[in-house]
Amino acid sequence: MSTNLETEEHKALRAAVAALGRRHGRGYDRESLWSEAAKLGYLGVNLPEEYGGGGGGIAELSLVLEELGAAGCPLLMMVVSPAICGTVISRFGTDAQKREWLPGLADGTRTMAFGITEPDAGSNSHRITTTARKDGADWLLTGRKVFISGVDIADATLIVGRTEDARTGNLKPCLFIVPRDAEGFSRRQIDMELNAAEKQFELVLDDVRLPADALVGDEDAGLLQLFAGLNPERVMTAAFAIGMGRHALAQAIAYARERTVWKAPIGAHQAIAHPLAQAHIDLELARLMMQKAAHLYDAGDDVGAGEAANMAKYAAGEACVKAVDQAVHTLGGNGLTREFGLASLITAARVARIAPVSREMILNYVSHQTLGLPKSY
Ligand SMILES: Cc1cc2nc3c(=O)[nH]c(=O)nc-3n(C[C@H](O)[C@H](O)[C@H](O)COP(=O)(O)OP(=O)(O)OC[C@H]3O[C@@H](n4cnc5c(N)ncnc54)[C@H](O)[C@@H]3O)c2cc1C
Repeated sequence: MSTNLETEEHKALRAAVAALGRRHGRGYDRESLWSEAAKLGYLGVNLPEEYGGGGGGIAELSLVLEELGAAGCPLLMMVVSPAICGTVISRFGTDAQKREWLPGLADGTRTMAFGITEPDAGSNSHRITTTARKDGADWLLTGRKVFISGVDIADATLIVGRTEDARTGNLKPCLFIVPRDAEGFSRRQIDMELNAAEKQFELVLDDVRLPADALVGDEDAGLLQLFAGLNPERVMTAAFAIGMGRHALAQAIAYARERTVWKAPIGAHQAIAHPLAQAHIDLELARLMMQKAAHLYDAGDDVGAGEAANMAKYAAGEACVKAVDQAVHTLGGNGLTREFGLASLITAARVARIAPVSREMILNYVSHQTLGLPKSY
């Protein structure tokens, strides 16, 4: 893929991460890649320098994830730990929370998961019922979450809950840091048909007692803080999808150049070549929107970044699903063998269409927010 829009630093970072990805490849060990990438400064590239980060932004972090994905070794927890949790804590956390968490998130010695999705709320996050109530200086957090990634390998999970406004009685969103082994915090692994290094969990929070400083930032700025984390999440999901799409496409192209069953390699047939060319174009277009979203976010334009990040996530998810589908088809029977490892990407590619916000919810967002159309729900 051409990278002419990027600075020399970005190109150098891309090349270095790609080289790391090649060394680990499809058979990667998640833990050792995570710690090596962290030591090289790639996982904390977006976090503030004073806390051990690289002082860059989501533009750099998404580039790292894209290149690892393109090499066949994506690190899903990058979407969550440095991108959502690192961003929220560095933008809104107290000084003590920053000192406590950011250096570890930056050097990879600590990881944080993120939990917003609930069984009875799903796409309608206004409906979440996980609730925090005060008990002296402490908080007691009760609720359920579902599909939360990496809770087993994360030192803590940033949980989206709600507190009652003392004045109005209204419930307002709040973010809490819940340590993995907190009493009353239990998890059950969900049996996913996904061939991935990271697992998903259903969580139960049963009066989990948390100290006052488990609440991130300001009780009254919960929604703002939440959105500050969700835009990076969408950009990073786009990077995850583009990386996976590139990985699949590269394998299909290599195969189509060689595999010959008539006179010319199958890649000479336009029925094989054109869909691969279309997949490449779609991935490039999605990446352009991802770069726009990252640029707006890093420039401090949260509103502009919101629209662009949604569009980028949508475009990347769709491009990834199509690229993987076409790659599998290009390999014929080999598309379904373990040796080539493409078939399992059919399931994995769908993640970017569903999470963290589904294709339909992005179309809803654009319909209402951008086009001003009325709402059906
Ligand atoms: C592999 C994986 C990892 C995940 N990791 C995390 C994580 O770490 N943390 C976390 O909090 N969550 C995580 N999630 C959850 C994910 O964000 C949700 O699955 C997603 O938001 C969709 O919610 P849902 O599954 O409840 O689907 P639902 O909300 O039940 O939606 C089901 C279908 O209905 C459609 N739909 C719903 N409402 C509308 C509407 N108004 N208009 C049109 N269509 C509609 C949706 O688009 C979808 O196709 C993960 C999910 C997966 C699959």
